[in-house]
Amino acid sequence: MSMDHKHKVEERVRTFAQACKQSGIPLTSQRRLIFEALLCRTDHPTADRIYQEIRRKLPGTSRTTVYRTLRLLTHLGQAQRVAGFGDTTHFDGDISSHHHFTCTMCGRITDVENPGLALADLAAFNKRMGCAATGCSVSVVGTCKECRSKQKHVKRQTYDDIAQRPAAR
Ligand SMILES: [Zn+2]
Ligand SMILES: [Zn+2]
Repeated sequence: MSMDHKHKVEERVRTFAQACKQSGIPLTSQRRLIFEALLCRTDHPTADRIYQEIRRKLPGTSRTTVYRTLRLLTHLGQAQRVAGFGDTTHFDGDISSHHHFTCTMCGRITDVENPGLALADLAAFNKRMGCAATGCSVSVVGTCKECRSKQKHVKRQTYDDIAQRPAAR
């Protein structure tokens, strides 16, 4: 972990600690560890993924604790939920407004860094709708680069196979 990243994680944990205090929720070492685990990943893990990781570090942690903590983090605005392909729910420690690309073949969710998709004008949106939207994220779906190259590879192999087959007599 780089110093810069470590510093950012510490800052986020401090914010989480404050939010917990304001809500009268104790910041247990388990909750802290779960939050840190989420902050150190950029692959938008499911609750189960986080659980697998935490279980190795703190063997006594239950799956329920992990699920509840992730729900708490979302509730306190310290994490966001990202819809996966199918009905899986993923979590993101990056709470900034950003878009996601979900591969419908491998299920991988990546942040869209150069989106070519404008982030919504929330002020105008709120004015029109009379609501108080705080974020916007567009979910782009399709086949990722890796899966596409695998597909191409498979196709090419098939053509080669056909070419090598003796001609029908
Ligand atoms: Zn893929
Ligand atoms: Zn993200």
